[in-house]
Amino acid sequence: MTNPRPRPEILTINPYIGGESKLPGINRVIKLSSNEGAFGAPPAAQEAFRRMSEELHRYPDGAATDLRRALGAKFALDPARIVCGAGSDDLIYQLCLSYGGPGTEIVMSEHGFSIYAIAGQYAGSRIRKTPERNLTADVDAMLAAVSPATRIVFVANPNNPTGSMLPEAEINRLRAGLPPEVLLVLDAAYAEYVERKDYEPGIRLVDAGDNTVMTRTFSKVFGLGGMRIGWAYAPPAVVDVLNRVRGPFNVSIAAQAAAIAALETPGWVEMSRAHNTEYRAKLAANLEAAGIRTWPSEGNFVLADFGTPALADAANAFLRGRGVIVRGVAGYGLPHCLRITVGTAEEVALVSEALALFMAERHG
Ligand SMILES: *Cc1c(COP(=O)(O)O)cnc(C)c1O
Repeated sequence: MTNPRPRPEILTINPYIGGESKLPGINRVIKLSSNEGAFGAPPAAQEAFRRMSEELHRYPDGAATDLRRALGAKFALDPARIVCGAGSDDLIYQLCLSYGGPGTEIVMSEHGFSIYAIAGQYAGSRIRKTPERNLTADVDAMLAAVSPATRIVFVANPNNPTGSMLPEAEINRLRAGLPPEVLLVLDAAYAEYVERKDYEPGIRLVDAGDNTVMTRTFSKVFGLGGMRIGWAYAPPAVVDVLNRVRGPFNVSIAAQAAAIAALETPGWVEMSRAHNTEYRAKLAANLEAAGIRTWPSEGNFVLADFGTPALADAANAFLRGRGVIVRGVAGYGLPHCLRITVGTAEEVALVSEALALFMAERHG
């Protein structure tokens, strides 16, 4: 008897482990494990979702015309160069499947976002992970890893789970050092949270050539992770490729409507960014005061460094016992760290107090 068998590389993929959301026996959990945004979805997006319940029998507009127009207006971009996806993960998969494949290589940094490796292996590419400096992608190491087989270089900027960021000059240096036929994908899932002046999400490099793509998501600052909606801004030839291979109805009508309403909610991004900046600093300061090292973060989360896997595991267990779920990042090669999303003021206070207590109990 022989059973159906996938291509061998499929079984080398480690499935993505998302942030947990439930704890047995605990009713009210504080979920700080998936970077979902502190405020939920904008009320207008929730309303648009409810309104769409009348239309569930209709196929969505496969071209997401209204949403692309809204994005174009918001970011001053040509809507013809935007492609929407069922989350930006969808677009990352399509890019890997289209540009990667057996015999090719995909370059990413050591602690880079894990979907690149999953999607790349799915495509049949070999994944080359490059060393980082201070948990930050190292442009020189990435350039050194490029070979004639390289097809895509992925940079999450800022990166999840480390929170580190490359300034525009470094991203430009990376692009300039890459062969023109290598696609550079700048994943700007956390762009809205960045306050640093030397940051640029990727629009300028997309505009400057034919070989850079920027991806964005509604899952973080717009609180629409459950709707699955993201987008790419890309050169015309890449747009053409994505439109050939993506699912023809990859973004549901509810997701399109909710995304437009979210995008057009006045002040939402500014409010979210201001809250994040304030409470990310508070969270980091509280952890440092408790004796826990934190890494600088430009995202809506903080990477807490306990020094050893044992201490990180014990802290995680302690938090879980109090109904607080954070993200273990051993799968990212960071078993001594935990990633903590910046939640509401109350959530930041609760997780901070719990960790202060944990550290105090540990050290008497
Ligand atoms: C959350 C996240 C994404 C996007 O996820 P989608 O929900 O699929 O849009 C992409 N890249 C990074 C680095 C992320 O953290």
